[in-house]
Amino acid sequence: LNSYVGFDTITKQIEAKLLKRGFQFNVIAVGQTGLGKSTLINTIFASHLIDTKGRFEPDEPVRQTTEIQAVSHIVQENNVKLRLNIVDTPGYGDLVNNEGCWDPIIKYIKDQHSAYLRKELTAMRDKYIVDTRIHCCLYFIAPTGHSLKAIDITVMKKLSEVVNVVPVIAKSDSLTLEERELFKERIRAELAHHSIRAYPFDNEENDAEESTLNEAIRNMIPFAVVGSERNVIIDGKPVRGRKNRWGVINVENEQHCEFNYLRNFLTRTHLQDLIETTAQIHYEAFRSKQLLALKESSA
Ligand code: GDP
Ligand code: MG
Repeated sequence: LNSYVGFDTITKQIEAKLLKRGFQFNVIAVGQTGLGKSTLINTIFASHLIDTKGRFEPDEPVRQTTEIQAVSHIVQENNVKLRLNIVDTPGYGDLVNNEGCWDPIIKYIKDQHSAYLRKELTAMRDKYIVDTRIHCCLYFIAPTGHSLKAIDITVMKKLSEVVNVVPVIAKSDSLTLEERELFKERIRAELAHHSIRAYPFDNEENDAEESTLNEAIRNMIPFAVVGSERNVIIDGKPVRGRKNRWGVINVENEQHCEFNYLRNFLTRTHLQDLIETTAQIHYEAFRSKQLLALKESSA
């Protein structure tokens, strides 16, 4: 007697459906001009690029005001297509007086939530809502080796209330390994002191393994990264790297910098969780606030 009915193929059915639909991932890069934002994003994703609307690197002149621009790409690995929106924030924090320079960034993030909510509330809503909600904010910290700037604290605090914030130390090749470790420790202490909740968060659904991984990541942030859009030859092989007077930095070598950890974290271990956390925590908070306001105004 064969009692097999085959519902165990549902995982395959879901996979096929998801693959057909594709995935959407939206990242925003925040930090002062020249900290290597465009370079790092390119180092993470550019080699997988198959289609780009607009230029991958909008090499803009330094602007007087923050002008936020999104560029869409499709990246592909095996049979998985990822629609990637990369939002750049040129000109941020470049002025003598940077008071309020973060407002357009916060507004941009909230606007995406609001657009999504509007589509959700439409009676004849689309089967799939195009998701422009920002899943991850890479926050670039200047490699001063001292402490966070006041603006970093203010902005990360505000950002962490609306989006998953992943802090990175930019251009960390300018710090010695000891300087880097001390700087990282100090930044973690400052984040804790100012109650800035960086991603990842723990949730009840996490199993022991996931909680341990998240704990390890929280003890590692901010990732000290180096970016490069050029290949250098190491042992006869081309690698992403930077050559300076003292030698060559291999961006992907874990003894040299934490680029690999960041990339694994974003793409291999936490991509789905970044998307889910955005929907379940950040968007949900926005949504319930909006709906409450709506109810009160109609009461
Ligand atoms: P953005 O303004 O933040 O987008 O910065 P860019 O990506 O345009 O980089 C500004 C300059 O810094 C460029 O000349 C890059 O080659 C250089 N740069 C980018 N990343 C690094 C890095 O990790 N280390 C060093 N030393 N230079 C970098
Ligand atoms: Mg740039």
